[in-house]
Amino acid sequence: MTRGQIANVDLVKQVNSAAVYRLIDHAGPISRVRIAELSHLAPASVTKITRALLEQGLIQELAHQASTGGRRAISLATVTQPFYLVSVKLGREELRLTLYNLAGQEFGRQILPFPRRELNNLLAALHHHIADFIAETGGERRIVAVAVIMPGLTDAQHGRVIYHPSYPLADVPLAGQLGSQLGLPVFIGNDTRAQALAEHYFGASKDCLDSVLVRVHHGVGAGIVTEGRIFKSQGRDVAEIGHIHVDPLGERCDCGNVGCLETMVADAALLRQARRMLDQGYCSTLAGRTLTMDVLCEAANKGDQLALAILRRAAERLGQALAIVVNLFNPQRVLLSGALCNAEDIVFPIINQAITHQSLPGFHQGQPIIRACFQHDQTIGGLALVKRALLEGELLQRILENKK
Ligand SMILES: [Zn+2]
Repeated sequence: MTRGQIANVDLVKQVNSAAVYRLIDHAGPISRVRIAELSHLAPASVTKITRALLEQGLIQELAHQASTGGRRAISLATVTQPFYLVSVKLGREELRLTLYNLAGQEFGRQILPFPRRELNNLLAALHHHIADFIAETGGERRIVAVAVIMPGLTDAQHGRVIYHPSYPLADVPLAGQLGSQLGLPVFIGNDTRAQALAEHYFGASKDCLDSVLVRVHHGVGAGIVTEGRIFKSQGRDVAEIGHIHVDPLGERCDCGNVGCLETMVADAALLRQARRMLDQGYCSTLAGRTLTMDVLCEAANKGDQLALAILRRAAERLGQALAIVVNLFNPQRVLLSGALCNAEDIVFPIINQAITHQSLPGFHQGQPIIRACFQHDQTIGGLALVKRALLEGELLQRILENKK
């Protein structure tokens, strides 16, 4: 066989194994006969693949009484608890590490300051912190992957960072470099897109294939899930809704344009507006207080007129942008994540009204925007990236070959 043929045979193996694993994950407990019917694979192939999955402990056999009586039937279900991963959030001058198992249970967590530094020091420090965390929390556990999520832009398919707001990582093949240092497969991705996938696998959009998550924090980002997959372009990040132009006379944005959505509704923008209005002498219970999003939302919830005006205006702007997203993608569900959710009763009705009035009636389907599940778990996205690598075959194949 030529190299090309060998590569194709390996790819077919990976695709078929992943198809069987996905069926067991989605529809299990399920019989081998039913897997063969649904996957259109030959029963002998299903038997061979399930044997390999059983050998690695990725699935288990469950015996139960067949409805027709007689012999006990055997069904297959996935096993996720004994497989672990480290999810790393490479944030803005901060590093968060969490050890999860594939069932989503947490076994250890660390948060460290991680100041800016030049590239070689940065990569060495990142490797050192992850390796130490694994040594401290991993023990005898079977760690199968590491995921690194971050603000900014990534080319997840090639494991490259395109842009990070705090570190000089542009064009660095981070997944490959860290992977060879750690001896583990490393998957990277944008934090908001990864959270959207986590909501799809485990959270507020678990029961639908098409959803949009909008996260308002330092910036405004979105993750669009279509047909159960994160919408990307050539493997790269999309859905930078924070840079939709909403005000021709607006403030300058970090991206170089003016009047971007995030210059008006991101957390820092709202706090800036509050400070400016207080300086101009507006009467408010916020006067003299240290301004944070929690304080702003709490004041609005108690009826403070200045806080209310700021949050209402932000909700209108956000609603306009979300109506555009709904018109473009017709999602089954729209999720909101961020500190603004602390003023849900004020913000959500305004966003819903904008979506209702500014998107096609058949598209918003009268479904209100809802709060995302993982508001505070900043590393959950990494778990989703690893689950995706398992379901799509790349990680599954490595585990089946029992190689690191
Ligand atoms: Zn911008």
